[in-house]
Amino acid sequence: MKKMTFSLCAAMLPMSVAYAGNIDIQLLADTSTQSQATVTVTATNHGDTEERISRWDLPFEFDGSLAAPLLEVTHDGKPVNYIGKLIKRAPIDEGDTIALAPGQMIAMKIHVARAYDLTAGGRFEVRYKTDMNGSGRKLRADNTITIDVVPSTPKLAAFNRVAAGDTQFRGCSASQGQAIRGARQAATQMINGASWAMSGSVAGNRYTYWFGNHDDQRHATVKSNINEIKAAVDNAGITVDCSCTESGVFAYVYPNQPYDVYVCPAFWSANNTGTDSRGGTLIHELSHFTAVAGTDDHAYGQWAARQLAQQNPAFAIANADNYEYFSENSPDRD
Ligand SMILES: [Zn+2]
Repeated sequence: MKKMTFSLCAAMLPMSVAYAGNIDIQLLADTSTQSQATVTVTATNHGDTEERISRWDLPFEFDGSLAAPLLEVTHDGKPVNYIGKLIKRAPIDEGDTIALAPGQMIAMKIHVARAYDLTAGGRFEVRYKTDMNGSGRKLRADNTITIDVVPSTPKLAAFNRVAAGDTQFRGCSASQGQAIRGARQAATQMINGASWAMSGSVAGNRYTYWFGNHDDQRHATVKSNINEIKAAVDNAGITVDCSCTESGVFAYVYPNQPYDVYVCPAFWSANNTGTDSRGGTLIHELSHFTAVAGTDDHAYGQWAARQLAQQNPAFAIANADNYEYFSENSPDRD
């Protein structure tokens, strides 16, 4: 679903928005379109004061599908793979929140099959995730629904025909293409630095700042992931698509479709190097591919990534922004 009308507030919000918890999420099976596996999600403010919610905690779709694994889908009790977008977005600001007046309800329709692999068919249980791994969102979402889906043939990702190490473009102007080549060069410099920083067996300040206290196993995982990301930056045939127009988003990928990267408006506003740069965004996105490091988006932005490193290193070493910030190394740490 395209963005609904948001009412914006001029008040500045802290980096982490606290929710009063009066918003209830309900899932409704959409029986008229069973074969397409759509569900309707409603968010209702049951309190008696206005509530604000990050739009990223609500399952709005852009470019045709969910932007994060906000649903928990199971089949015979087993979790179903998320195959939808993984994005890099800016930390939320006031423009990213939606105000819900007392009693107000908004509804969003979700195409479950575009974000979860339902090809096996049969009965699936769908639940709304109330805890996105410490994101702090507090929505009440109690109901689980079941949807019945007709089996279908898995759609194979289009074979990426780009020559090894080359970059190709889809829907990009000549100057955008040139900028993307520059971004990949910047990414090469950054990931070489990151790889070099991981060459020893002892964690330096730079490591502990972004990945937390030293632990042999975690250190080995990070080292291996950074080498996989470096291999992709150096050798992958990458296709970059410039058609995305979603504001507040740098880029996104589908984790099972290497090496297609979709760049969005925040990418074009970014510098080539430094914090949240174009080069760093490419590192972030490449890290998401299952064939590379299979990272998630547990937290966005330097502040939240740093919190993750301090409080939950196991999540930090699986979080795309932490690899990006380690590689950007801005400000410089050794
Ligand atoms: Zn991401």
